[in-house]
Amino acid sequence: KTLRKSLIKKTKTVCPFCGVGCSYEIWTRNEREILKVEPKPESPANGIATCIKGKFGQNYVNSKDRITKPLIKEGDHFREATWEEAIKLVASKLTQIKEKYGPDSIGIIASCTSTNEEAYLAQKFARQVIGTNNIDNCARYCQSPATTGLIRTVGYGADSGSAEDLACADLVILIGTNTAEAHPVIAGKIKRWHKLYNKKLVVIDVRKHEMAERADLFITPNVGTDIILINGIAKFIIDNNWEDKNFIRDRTVGFDDYKKSLEPFTLDYVEKVTGVDKEKIITIAKWIHESKGVSIAWAMGITQHQDGSETSTAISNLLLLTGNYGKPCCGAFPLRGHANVQGAGDVGALYNFLPGYQSLSDEKVRKKFEEAWNCELPKKPGISSTDMVDAILDGRIHAMYIMGEDKVLADADQTKTRDAFTKLDFLVVQDMFMTETAKYADVILPASAPLEKEGTYVNTERRIQRLYKVMEPLGESKSDWEIIQMIARAMGYNWNYSHPSEIMKEISSLAPIFEGVTYDRLEGFKSLQWPVKKDGTDSPYLYKDSFPFPDGKARFYPTKVIEPQNLDENYDLYLINGRMLEHFHWMRMTGKTEGIKYKVPQTFLEMSPELAEKKGLKTGDEVIIESRSGRIKTKVLVSNRVSGNKVFLSIHDDKDMNINWLTLDNKDPTARTPAYKETPVRVEKIESC
Ligand code: SF4
Repeated sequence: KTLRKSLIKKTKTVCPFCGVGCSYEIWTRNEREILKVEPKPESPANGIATCIKGKFGQNYVNSKDRITKPLIKEGDHFREATWEEAIKLVASKLTQIKEKYGPDSIGIIASCTSTNEEAYLAQKFARQVIGTNNIDNCARYCQSPATTGLIRTVGYGADSGSAEDLACADLVILIGTNTAEAHPVIAGKIKRWHKLYNKKLVVIDVRKHEMAERADLFITPNVGTDIILINGIAKFIIDNNWEDKNFIRDRTVGFDDYKKSLEPFTLDYVEKVTGVDKEKIITIAKWIHESKGVSIAWAMGITQHQDGSETSTAISNLLLLTGNYGKPCCGAFPLRGHANVQGAGDVGALYNFLPGYQSLSDEKVRKKFEEAWNCELPKKPGISSTDMVDAILDGRIHAMYIMGEDKVLADADQTKTRDAFTKLDFLVVQDMFMTETAKYADVILPASAPLEKEGTYVNTERRIQRLYKVMEPLGESKSDWEIIQMIARAMGYNWNYSHPSEIMKEISSLAPIFEGVTYDRLEGFKSLQWPVKKDGTDSPYLYKDSFPFPDGKARFYPTKVIEPQNLDENYDLYLINGRMLEHFHWMRMTGKTEGIKYKVPQTFLEMSPELAEKKGLKTGDEVIIESRSGRIKTKVLVSNRVSGNKVFLSIHDDKDMNINWLTLDNKDPTARTPAYKETPVRVEKIESC
C-alpha cells in the first residue's frame, strides 16, 4: 500500500474548461495516467465542488489524436518536420509577407486556454515583432460586448465582485445565462443562497432551464428585446422615485441625459414589444427597489446579439441607478466562458487595448511600452478577430498565426471563413489537435496541453491562479510561450524568458492592475483578484471608493436599440444556441473523452410540443435546419423548455452538425461580436423512404 501511494503524484492546477476557475489536485501515476481529480477545501473559487468536465474530462491529454510533431503542408498532405525546419519556415514566411504587404497584412489570434503569460507574449509578438495591433482572442465571440458596456459605464470590463457577491445578493437576476450548465459551480452557490437564506431569483431567458425552474419569477422576452425590458424596468424605477439619489449624486455623472433617454420605454410600449406582461415588469422593478443588494449575471444570451454592447450598457446603467456597485453582495457579473478568456484580454490580446486595458492613444502609456520593448508601437487600432475574415477576402490580410482557436467552427457563417482561409498566402496554426482550422494551415506547431505547463489563469472573478505542470508535454509538443519565443528569436528579437514567472514579472511592471502579482504570492492554492497593489493587497470587489475615471465617478451611458434580424415567410423560426453541461465548445477536449462522448454523442434540435405538432414532428425525427447561409441535418427533441417561434441547438459539434454552418455574419457594431443568438431558420422533416 505504501509503495502504491509513493507512485502517485498529486499536482495542483486550474481547470482548462470554463471561466469559473475551479482549482484542484490531479492524481497521476506512471507519468500520464490520470487517477483522480480532487478539489480541496482551500480551492478559492470552488471549495470541494467541480463539474463533470473538470472531474472526468481531462483525459483528452492522452488522446491518440494529439499532434506531437511539427507538420508542414506539401500538396494536399502534411509531413512531419523538425522544430528547426518549421520555425525557420514560419519566421521567413512572416518576414516576407510583412516586407511585401506591411505589418498590418498579418493577423494573430491568442488562445483563451493559454496562460496569461502566453497571451501576453502573443500580443507582444504582434506589436513588437510584427508591428501590428491585429491581435485578438476568443472574447470577440462571447463577452466583448459586456466588456464594452462596463468600460463605458464603470471603467473595468470585468465582474465587479466575487461569485459569492453574486450569490449573496438579496435579489439575483440571471439574464441570458444558462448558469447551471455553463457555469455549474457558480450556479451551485446561487442555488445554496436562494434555498438556505431565502434570496430572490429572477431568470430572464428564452429557455426554461434548471435555474429558470428554480426561479421566483421566470420570463421570456421576445428575441432581441432584452434591452427594451431593462430600460423599461429602469424607467419604472425612476417614475416611482425609487432611484438611489445619494449614489447618483455622489458617485455618477450623466443621469439627466440617461433619464431623458428612457422616456420612450413606457410600460405599455415595453409590454407590447417584449411580450412580457406589465405586472411582471413591475414586480421586478419592485423587487429591485426592496432589495439591499442586487446582482445581475449575464452571458451569451445577451452578448451574442447585434445590440450586445448596448444591452450590457443598459444592465450596468440599471445597477448604477439603484446604487448596486461598490459594496459586497451586489454588482455586475458577465460570466466568462473560457478558462482564461478574462486573462487573455487583461494582458492585452486585444486589437484596441494594451495590457491592463491601457489606451493605445495615451502618449505616456505608449512611451512606457516603447521603452520596455525597444520598438515603435503601431498607432492605429488593429482588426478584430471577426473582421479578419473580411480583411482576408478584400486583400488586407495575407497571413495568420492562430493559437488554440478553431476559427472555422467558431466564426459565424463558417462557409465564408473556409473560403477566406483558402485565399491566405500563409497560415500557421498552433494546436493540440488537427482541428478544422488546422486543415487549412501551411504549418502546424504542436502545442502542449494546459496540464503540461506552468503559468497563470484569470477566472471570471478577476482571480489570478497558478497552474503547475501535472505531466511532461506529450511527444515533441511545447508550451505556447516557448513556441512564440522561438519564432520571435528566429525573426531577430532577443527574447530570453526561461520560465513563465519572468513573463509575469514583465506584465506586472507594465500593467498597473497586475502590479503586485508575483508567483510567490500565488503559490499553491493562493489567489489574487486584480487590481493587485504592490503590497499584495487585492480587490475581491471593485469600486468601493471610486470608479477608474479621472474624476472617480461612474458614467450613465444612454443606449441605442438595434432591431434583431427579422423572420419572414421563408425563415419563420429563431434558432437559439448554447452550451450543455457535459461538453465544452467545439468538443476539442470533451469530444476526446470517451465517457462524455458516450453520454452526449450528438446535438439535437429542441422545440416546443405546440411547434412540433404544427410541423408534424416528434422526438427522434430527422430534420433539415436551413438558414440564409447554410443547412444541416439533426434530430428533434420535443421539450417544454422552449416556446413559441424559438428552437434550440447546442453548439457542441465538431463538424457536420456545427451551428455555424447556419449563423449569419451580422455583428454588434461596437464590439464586433456576431449575433449568433438571432438566426432566422426553417425546419423541414426528412421523410424516410
Ligand atoms: Fe469548474 Fe468550469 Fe471546470 Fe466545471 S468546467 S470544473 S465549473 S472550471
